[in-house]
Amino acid sequence: MADWSTPDCNFFQFVRKSDPIILEDLKPACFPQRIPTIVVTCSDYLRRHEMVEHLGTMRGYRREEDPETHLLAWHGGPIRFYPRSRVNYDDDDKVFTRELIEAVELTGISDVNLLGHWPCKKCLRHKLTPKDAFDHLVRALALLKEVLPEIQFRTLFHADYREFQPNKMRSYRLDPMVYNNLPTT
Ligand SMILES: [Zn+2]
Repeated sequence: MADWSTPDCNFFQFVRKSDPIILEDLKPACFPQRIPTIVVTCSDYLRRHEMVEHLGTMRGYRREEDPETHLLAWHGGPIRFYPRSRVNYDDDDKVFTRELIEAVELTGISDVNLLGHWPCKKCLRHKLTPKDAFDHLVRALALLKEVLPEIQFRTLFHADYREFQPNKMRSYRLDPMVYNNLPTT
């Protein structure tokens, strides 16, 4: 079964063409170079390796190097921090937030990447659209900034286009300020 619906494709085309830019292609200038980081991501085994490895190269590490990545992975990834996300059961947001606070305390790392992705099986299971995933990611960021004000957060998004083109995957930086000011989709 296809993971990408026509409205999902249309949404991505819309955000990819936005002016000002919502989704910026990742480049090394998006990241502090060669410092350890925490990556909060979905557990998805089909994409996780590519997502983390690619981030490592953008962060200044060679492919054969350890990219010094402290991984916090849960189904759906950072959207789980948003209490009202339909992907959550009970107090999942509180549990996951506590885990992130502990990750910061245990490692002393102050740089955190919140990495959403599409297509995400967890989102599809709970009937989230890509727009929902963007919304919940941006709302999660706002909440986390209050809980961990000293942390440098970044919102990222990975898209797997292999349904349309072999080997085509892309990672983007999602600009929350621009996204929050979107007129309409
Ligand atoms: Zn996923």
